Formats: sequence, structure tokens, C-alpha cells
Amino acid sequence: MKVAYWPGCVSRGFTPELHGSVAKVAPLLDIDLVELDRACCTGAGVIAEHNQELADTYNGRTFALAQQVEGADLMMNICSTCQGAQSESQERLDANAEYRAHVNATIQETDGISYEKGIVNKNFLWLLVEEIGLDALASKVKKPLTDLRVGPFYGCYIVRPTARLGIDDENPRDTYLSKVIEALGGTVVEYAGSHKCCGFPIITMNKTASLKQAGRHLGDAIDADADCVVTPCPLCHLNLDLQQPLAARAAGRELGMPVLHLPQLVGLALGLSPKELGMQRHVVKPTSVVDWSTSVVAGVGGDRGW
Ligand code: SF4
Ligand code: SF4
Repeated sequence: MKVAYWPGCVSRGFTPELHGSVAKVAPLLDIDLVELDRACCTGAGVIAEHNQELADTYNGRTFALAQQVEGADLMMNICSTCQGAQSESQERLDANAEYRAHVNATIQETDGISYEKGIVNKNFLWLLVEEIGLDALASKVKKPLTDLRVGPFYGCYIVRPTARLGIDDENPRDTYLSKVIEALGGTVVEYAGSHKCCGFPIITMNKTASLKQAGRHLGDAIDADADCVVTPCPLCHLNLDLQQPLAARAAGRELGMPVLHLPQLVGLALGLSPKELGMQRHVVKPTSVVDWSTSVVAGVGGDRGW
């Protein structure tokens, strides 16, 4: 499957292990990534707050670039925040032909291309379930996540608002992380904060509240006996992993909870090593995950890979 791939800037900057993991996992899933290297930031919802047309022009241009990729089945992103911002722009652009033409005039002027209504833009999580399929995913598992207890952390931007994000009875996208964990052979850990905001958007305005939010969710996952948490959003990862030492202080308790990017969890089950997936870059060393991984590898007589 060929996809027009938008990695987003965080996965290339702050969390390069995320982009690196997708690049390694994609061929194992028969996904051909064609990176949209000339695309720009989605605006992360922040630009739209001040200037909706500018955000829609940025995103319309990215959609137009994706539509230039010959033979691509769809567009894919690996960031919930990108998904949320792009879905919002697409909703506005697709709903109003006059507005779309107005925005397209700017894109035409700068790039000589324009956006045709109706691009299919899916987060990696959605693509796993809806395009690859859970059975096909399970059939590719080399090292099932047996005995690994995983807490899904969706965050907010990929589950709200439901109508815009295509979440309904037919497509229960707000349950997909659990389904993927199960397909990989792991155990899903339910906990209170799995669908709540990580606090990242308010970190510059109210750092204490932001860190308390992150600390509370991680604490909930610990109390539910999770070995690790997994997220489809690199910005969630920043608050939950990079800021975790400060979140622990704000929450007034010890944490030490490993936080994995979704492609890393998939990659482990497909047989890649923690090192190949860049897990040594994490602030909270994923010791419980690595112990699990190495014991499975040791069990089949392979390389420890860490
Ligand atoms: S939404 Fe976030 S990750 Fe996506 S492009 Fe913008 S700043 Fe980068
Ligand atoms: S949980 Fe935080 S970082 Fe994640 S999508 Fe929501 S606001 Fe963004």
C-alpha cells in the first residue's frame, strides 16, 4: 500500500525515534511511505485560533501535495495533533466550494497546485485497523506481547470531536489502541486517564497544572498495574515521558512509567529490537518492556538487541 506520508515536525525534531520507528515498521507491514517533505506545520490548532484561513491554506497545500503522489491510496500522519488540525481544516475546506476556491487561489499562486475535495487522511492507528486489518496485523507478529500489560493513552485530539474524526458505531476509532494491543498479543490495561488530555497545551501557561495532569494519568496507569503506556501522539509523549520527572514532582509521587510511541509497540511485536526502535532515547528507560523483550528473544535464542 502506497501512502502520502506526513510525519509532522515533532516526530522529526523532538521525538525522532517516532519517525525512525515508522520507517522501520512500514516495510514489515507492506506500507510504501512517500514522505511529503515540502509540507509545513498543520498549525496545531494554534494558528487556526488566530487565523483560520492561514491554517486552512497550510493544510490545503499539504493535501494538494499528497494528491500529487502518484498511486498513493491515501494520506497518513503519525501525530494526533496533526490529525486533529488537518481534520478541522478539511472539514471547512470540503464544506464550502467558494471558500475552497479562495484558499486554492493562494496555493495555486505559490505552488501551482490545488486541493480537490475529499482526501482520505488517516492516522497510523486508523490505518493499522482499517487498511491493514487486525487479523493481518496479528499474522505478522513474531514476538507476541505476551504478559506485557499496556495502558492505551489516546489523549484528546484523536478522539474529539467525534463527528469530525469519523468516530461512530461502525468505526469505533476511540477503541482502536486497545484492539491493536490485543492483536499484538498484549494485555490491555484500563485506567481513568486513557482518553483525557495530557496537559501539553497549557504547559507554557500553567506548568504546574499541566504536569499534574500528566502525573495523574501516569499514576492511574501505575495503579492499574500497567507495565507501560502507549500513545499515537508525539506531543502526548513529550508531556508523559520527557516531562515525567517533573510530573512526578507535581503529582507528589514516584512514577517511572515507560511511555512508548505506537509504532514502537508494533515494531517490538514484529520482531524489531528496542534499540532499532530508538527506545534508548526515552527519558524513562523502558526497562520493563526491554526485560520482556529480551526474555522473549532469549527464549528463542536470539540477540538481546539492547
Ligand atoms: S501539529 Fe504539531 S507535530 Fe504536527 S506539524 Fe504541527 S507542530 Fe508539528
Ligand atoms: S493529549 Fe495533549 S498532546 Fe495529546 S493530543 Fe491531547 S493536548 Fe495534544
